Amino acid sequence: AQAVSVVVVAGLGVSGAAAARGLAAAGERVIVLEANPGERQRAAAAELAPLGVEVRFGEPILPDEASLLVTSPGWRPSHPLLAAAVRSGVEVIGEVELAWRLRAADGSAAPWLALTGTNGKTTAVRMLTSILVEAGHRAVAVGNVGVPIAAAVREPYDVLAVELSSFQLHWSSSLAPRAAALLNVAPDHIDWHGSLEEYAAAKARIFEKADVVVYNADDDWCARLAGPYLPGEAGAGDVRTVGFTLGTPRPGQLGLVEELLVDRAFVADPVREAEELADLGDITPFAPHNVANALAAAALARAYGVPADAVRRGLRAFAPDPHRIQHVATVDGVDYVDDSKATNPHAAAASLAAYRSVVWIAGGQLKGADVDELVRGAAPRLRGAVLLGQDRARIREALARHAANVPVVDVPGQDTGVMDRVVGEARRLASPGDTVLLAPAGASLDMWPGYGARGDAFARAVHRLSG
Ligand code: ADP
Repeated sequence: AQAVSVVVVAGLGVSGAAAARGLAAAGERVIVLEANPGERQRAAAAELAPLGVEVRFGEPILPDEASLLVTSPGWRPSHPLLAAAVRSGVEVIGEVELAWRLRAADGSAAPWLALTGTNGKTTAVRMLTSILVEAGHRAVAVGNVGVPIAAAVREPYDVLAVELSSFQLHWSSSLAPRAAALLNVAPDHIDWHGSLEEYAAAKARIFEKADVVVYNADDDWCARLAGPYLPGEAGAGDVRTVGFTLGTPRPGQLGLVEELLVDRAFVADPVREAEELADLGDITPFAPHNVANALAAAALARAYGVPADAVRRGLRAFAPDPHRIQHVATVDGVDYVDDSKATNPHAAAASLAAYRSVVWIAGGQLKGADVDELVRGAAPRLRGAVLLGQDRARIREALARHAANVPVVDVPGQDTGVMDRVVGEARRLASPGDTVLLAPAGASLDMWPGYGARGDAFARAVHRLSG
């Protein structure tokens, strides 16, 4: 009998199910491999069965007929199923690459405005979506956020705002966004990628086939990775390269002039040098890194032809997701702020830089990242530090090296009462006018199911202080 080729989808999560649906609609034979035969998974399998999608439960084994494997972003390249695929010459792609191919099959497909970076992706992609919607476009945020991308490419959108992780970029090869932005690059997920160089190289893939390359001109890694696309360089071709900066923009950049966000790259009126986009006051929550996120979102929107006034309206209408510099309460003149999403040192540094006088709550899983630079930079602002979680000793040692005068309280334990003790200690260290900031610099999985649960525990503990 003649072998029929099969597309294999790894994992029956929300995105795996969307991938299977998209493939089935495109006429492919699909097998989904799912380790967990739980109730939810069985229900999902039952929904896919009428579309001709087969779901195999148990240890994932690569079928002989496999011609393409769609992997799930969390899996390491060394996963036995992926290793088996590579060994037998089966192409491995991620769901984003799949979505791009499904979309490419249909001539009417919406263009993509894509962004990546170590931190700020979700914020920037939501700002971008808000701007696009204010400009009257049918737009949606996809990628790590919102709707599964394989589902969104089948809907009648004008344009997609696509958030890409380094994992998804690693498993992509043909994405050609209308415009692509790189927000920043700092050590994170090194355990997955193998080295900072490989992590950065995965991020840089976002530029490979983009018409407009948008990069953070204040970030050394970003400037380096955008270098080949600058005018006159090997990769330049017809590519347009646009930098953004928190300083004064040069021609071809977006940046700040006093209190204004200004565009010197996409100016329609030939007699004008620059166009005003928004005021710093239009950005919430106000923090330097969010201004950078806003400039990146604005650059992508402007590359798509959005007028300046829609940028302002979009930034004003933008509502940040929870646990990202979220003000919880003011108790006895002290502000309590939840930035539980600061899960790596670079994010924590950005969030600490937004406050003058801080009692810092930190700890969790550092994923091998170094905290010396973070602690050295934050030291002048610290009124105290309260440490919790798995890798707190590493932060304590860095504090001893770079901030010896800052009082530090260590809160051991894994129990549910830890956060109450942490917040109680922070309150003792804080004076009126200070900010108690949860910006852990580490992942939450040592003690919580995710950063959201950690932030919720913090907020509950703060409310108990005031209640
Ligand atoms: P991501 O989707 O990349 O994880 P988020 O927008 O969810 O990014 O923000 C995660 C955290 O990173 C925030 O809580 C904040 O601490 C920090 N952050 C956000 N934007 C930036 C930025 N441009 N530079 C550095 N840190 C940032």
